[in-house]
Amino acid sequence: MSTLKAIRGTRDLLPPETALWNRIEATARSVFARYNFGEIRTPVFEDTALFARGVGEETDIVSKEMYTWEDRARAQSEKTQTLTLRPENTAGVVRAYIEHQLGESGQLQKLYYIGPQFRRERPQKGRYRQFSQIGAEVIGPVSAGSESPLRDAEVLEMLATLLDELGISGWTLQLNSVGSSADRERYNQALREALVPLAPQMCVDCQRRAVTNPLRVLDCKVPADQPIIETLPRIADSLDADSVAHFAAVTAALDAAGVPYTRNHRLVRGLDYYTRTTFEFTHGGLGAQNALLGGGRYDGLSEMIGGPRAPGIGFAMGEDRLVLTLLALEDAAAQVKVDAYIAPLGENMNAAALNLARELRHVGLHIELGDGSFRLKKSFEAADKTARCIVILGEDEVKSGILTVKTFATGIQTKVARAELAAFLSE
Ligand code: AMP
Repeated sequence: MSTLKAIRGTRDLLPPETALWNRIEATARSVFARYNFGEIRTPVFEDTALFARGVGEETDIVSKEMYTWEDRARAQSEKTQTLTLRPENTAGVVRAYIEHQLGESGQLQKLYYIGPQFRRERPQKGRYRQFSQIGAEVIGPVSAGSESPLRDAEVLEMLATLLDELGISGWTLQLNSVGSSADRERYNQALREALVPLAPQMCVDCQRRAVTNPLRVLDCKVPADQPIIETLPRIADSLDADSVAHFAAVTAALDAAGVPYTRNHRLVRGLDYYTRTTFEFTHGGLGAQNALLGGGRYDGLSEMIGGPRAPGIGFAMGEDRLVLTLLALEDAAAQVKVDAYIAPLGENMNAAALNLARELRHVGLHIELGDGSFRLKKSFEAADKTARCIVILGEDEVKSGILTVKTFATGIQTKVARAELAAFLSE
């Protein structure tokens, strides 16, 4: 029988690395709470139409990367539906915003999520078919200030804080504005015209994009195309006065808060719903897949999927890439040792050892429990690998109430009264 393996592009996360994932999630939750974000959990699969309309039919995600299937009706009352594993979470959040009429409160909704996303991409380091995103959205009626450039700046400042608190130094914030949908339409037209004579000299993908979705040409990574792309018109020149003023207000607030950024005129991002501010945080340690996170404003998304006017701004960070970055920066997943290993001397001591372990665990100590069938040498070897100390528990110890504790770092062996053991191990 052939052995079964995790599907290509998916992977198992194992300890000790999972401790790092938990630390990242705990830090993110703590930062989000300080900025008054609440958690939203949306389903992992949705109606395919949500992504077709929300993300855009022409995007790589929708045109070739979605896991989509026909979900057969199980009863007469049901109909067969086309469903998709979510490739991103913003469309789902906005769907939920509309479905639960969250805009009715008149307040801004500040929502964050942590969870798996699915895209049928070509797997490589930092790019998987199941990956985890940590993201947040600020969305609401215009009267609640959802269009304000202050919201953009606050989200970017929060991200700078989060990366700093995670211990990820050396990031770069790349910033751009893609303008209003009218600006984009104008820019698309300008690009399309500029590409007519140039596209035949470019890669096959760009030749297709030049016709179907000219903005995507700016994402091209083919080296030979780069000098040509540099000569193309810039979106900055197609922005109307309002978009220019909005962007200037975002950068002024970032300057005031001391958040560094660089303008990247080619940053138009892979999803169709973006308007005005777009951004990416990159990190040199990641290699080819250098984007830690991306996001932007999506003032028309709610209407695109049948909702009320509800401008918003959000981002999604690649949690897998945060882990990779931290692993490269430090020995972040180094095994953390438990406080003590309890070694029963003989199987008749097992029950007493369980009871001692229970007492110590109840006061919050991290305890590994050995087994009375082990020879003492084996217990010491196992303890040295997993714990800071070993506590020996034999008949004499139980009778006298005095335990022998050896601390591995110092090699010192001490007699400790059972009543004092928890305090001793906590030191
Ligand atoms: P996007 O939703 O495409 O804007 O991506 C936002 C972030 O999610 C990126 O900057 C990456 O960090 C991460 N990401 C996107 N696709 C993948 C993938 N296939 N594998 C791992 N991380 C990804």
